[in-house]
Amino acid sequence: MNAVETGATIGSLLHECGLPRSEAELLLGSILGRERVWLLAHAEEAIDSSGARAARALFARRRAGEPVSYVTGSREFYGLALRVTQEVLIPRPETELLVELALERLSPDEPGRVLELGTGSGAIAIALASERPGLAIVATDVSEAALSLARRNARDHGAGIDFVLSDWFDALGPGQFDLIVSNPPYVAAEDAHLGRGDLRFEPRLALVGGDDGLACIRAIAARAQNRLRRGGSLLMEHGYDQGHRCVELLRAQGYAEVADFHDLAGWPRVCAGVWRG
Ligand code: GLN
Repeated sequence: MNAVETGATIGSLLHECGLPRSEAELLLGSILGRERVWLLAHAEEAIDSSGARAARALFARRRAGEPVSYVTGSREFYGLALRVTQEVLIPRPETELLVELALERLSPDEPGRVLELGTGSGAIAIALASERPGLAIVATDVSEAALSLARRNARDHGAGIDFVLSDWFDALGPGQFDLIVSNPPYVAAEDAHLGRGDLRFEPRLALVGGDDGLACIRAIAARAQNRLRRGGSLLMEHGYDQGHRCVELLRAQGYAEVADFHDLAGWPRVCAGVWRG
C-alpha cells in the first residue's frame, strides 16, 4: 500500500537516478539487500516510500562523486565481501594479482609465516587466510581505525590473523617471514590523479608515497631484509609507471630473482624479489 503511494518501481528508480546502470544497481541492491540479478528480475516491483527515499539519498551521494564502495560500505575483493570506510583504501581488482603471486610462492603443504604491511581493510591478508587457512599471518597498519575495520572483516570471514598497530616494522615482535607483501602508498605527492575520481575521497595516508611515490616501497625493501628468512620473497604493488624503478631499487638493495608482473589491464603492477642473505 505504501508502495502504491510512491508509484516508484525498482526499474523506474534505477532509470531516473542519473547514474550508470551498474552503479545504480549496486547502490539500490545495498539498500534492499539484494543481488543485481534479483533487481533485474524484479524491475516492475513497487518499492515503498522509505526504501525509495533511502535509495535516492545514496544516489545523490554518488552523483556528488563519493566512491560507490564508500556509499554502500562494502566492496568485493578476491570473491570476499569486505566492509570499507573512508579510513581505508578501496580494495582494487589489480591487487588480486598480489594475492595470486603470494599464493604461488607459498607451498600449499607447509604452513608458512606471512607478513602484510599496511593492511587497510585487511583485503590481502584475509584473501590469503581464506585460501590457505594454515598460514600464520601478521598484518600491520599505522591507522587504528583501519586495524579495527580489518579485524572486523577478518572476523566476518573467520580468518585468524594477528593484527598489529605498527608503522611498517616498528612495533613488530621478533621473528622472520617466508613472505612479506604490501600494497603501500605509492602515488607521488603532486600527482594529478589525487584530484580525480575515487582518490579524492580516499585517505592520503594510504595513497601518497612521498615526492616520487617510491618512499614507502624503498623503505620497505630496505627493512624487509632483516625480516625475511633466507629464500623468502618480498612482493609489493606499485604504480603503472614505476615497474622499472622498482626493479632497479630491489636489485640495488641486493634482492635476487627480481621480477615485475603485469595486472589484467596489462600494466606493470607488482615487483618481486627473493632475499638470499
Ligand atoms: N592503486 C591506487 C591508485 O592509483 C593507489 C593505491 C596505492 O597507493 N597503494 O588508484
